[in-house]
Amino acid sequence: MNYRMVDLIQKKRNGEPLAKPEINWIIENYVSGVVPDYQMSAFAMATYFKGMTTKEIAELTMAMVASGAQIDLSDIPGIKVDKHSTGGVGDKVSIILVPLVASFGVPVAKMSGRGLGHTGGTLDKLESIPGFKIEKTIAEFKDQVREKGLAIIGQSDDLVKADKLLYALRDVTATVDQIPLIASSIMSKKIASGADAILLDVTVGSGAFMKNIADARELARTMVDLGKAVGRQTVAVITDMNQPLGYAIGNRNEITEAVEVLTGHSTQDFRLYITELAQMMLQLAGVDKSIAEITANFDNGQAYAKLLEMIKAQGGDYSAALTKPLQAKYRTEVPADSSGFIEEMEALGIGLVAMKLGAGRATKTDTIDFEAGINLQHKVGDTVKVGESLAVLYSNQPITEAHIKDFKAAIKIGQKQQHYREILEVVR
Ligand code: URA
Repeated sequence: MNYRMVDLIQKKRNGEPLAKPEINWIIENYVSGVVPDYQMSAFAMATYFKGMTTKEIAELTMAMVASGAQIDLSDIPGIKVDKHSTGGVGDKVSIILVPLVASFGVPVAKMSGRGLGHTGGTLDKLESIPGFKIEKTIAEFKDQVREKGLAIIGQSDDLVKADKLLYALRDVTATVDQIPLIASSIMSKKIASGADAILLDVTVGSGAFMKNIADARELARTMVDLGKAVGRQTVAVITDMNQPLGYAIGNRNEITEAVEVLTGHSTQDFRLYITELAQMMLQLAGVDKSIAEITANFDNGQAYAKLLEMIKAQGGDYSAALTKPLQAKYRTEVPADSSGFIEEMEALGIGLVAMKLGAGRATKTDTIDFEAGINLQHKVGDTVKVGESLAVLYSNQPITEAHIKDFKAAIKIGQKQQHYREILEVVR
């Protein structure tokens, strides 16, 4: 069947659902270049305003999956698991969770993305390890998962070609933050990557795409249903991203924090959060472990040994000082202006300061300074005294009053002690 793109844009603009052959036609013809970017932009904007039915989202997702190669992991023994976060500030969770889960003999096959704006990316963090390679062929990726039980690599160009094109277009047409488009973008990549089971971390709050819990719930529900509909065991957690995750925001300092957690040196709260995620991922693979059993693999060195195995398998210098303090030329402590409880540490504001210090990208082509970043000294709920250090900022460019002012603007000190919990809800 041949369609005219203008008719399909109009149909969507008028709020009518599209049929499966129409959706397939759009994706096939966009990838082959018949549908130009300007028509696809109009379609994305019409979708942004008119939304999609559950059926349309599922059909769009599968049309995107079919636009590239699909990885078959079935010749690797065991239930292969994958994990995806919708992104945030200080989110080094995959770097801890993947080796932790793999240390129980459950194979983890993960493709990750880069950071943009205030959000960091797992690939950038891993590349701060000297020599670490994030590019592998699909055959090499599979071999590593088979032999070592874990791999985190960059998204292969051969997979979900439609998403590569469409995501770049959405990025410049203000059509990223829309639930059907995010759900189909993420789930098409997860489905094409071949894992049997998927743990989704849907972040919510100032530092996340989803700003309120209702939207986060809807995105989580949509993605879980998409995964299940194609036979993948899928669970989503909703994680609070109103303050950064953990204490380090940057790249190499996040590796350092990941190593600290993996070797049993972290706060109880953060460790519990990671172990709860690990428990869910293990359950997806049919492995039931208590929190105490999972925590034991931090203390007995098995989880850390898996991280080192992955670093070695991907060419990284694992003997390099993974825990060396940041070596930036400039270092500034930010003191508290008053005494009291930290009531807020706004993730968006802190992520933007980290980006301006050089730890992130304002545009896709910016380069990252691995030695730049922020190490928080406190989190929400802590008490501080006036003059006490809240955080240390690191940069190879001079740290200005504006950086400090912006950082302080993200912190609220008051008289109320807030209790912070990372996992807000679980969607099954
Ligand atoms: N991450 C993705 O991969 N796609 C989106 O649309 C949003 C976040």
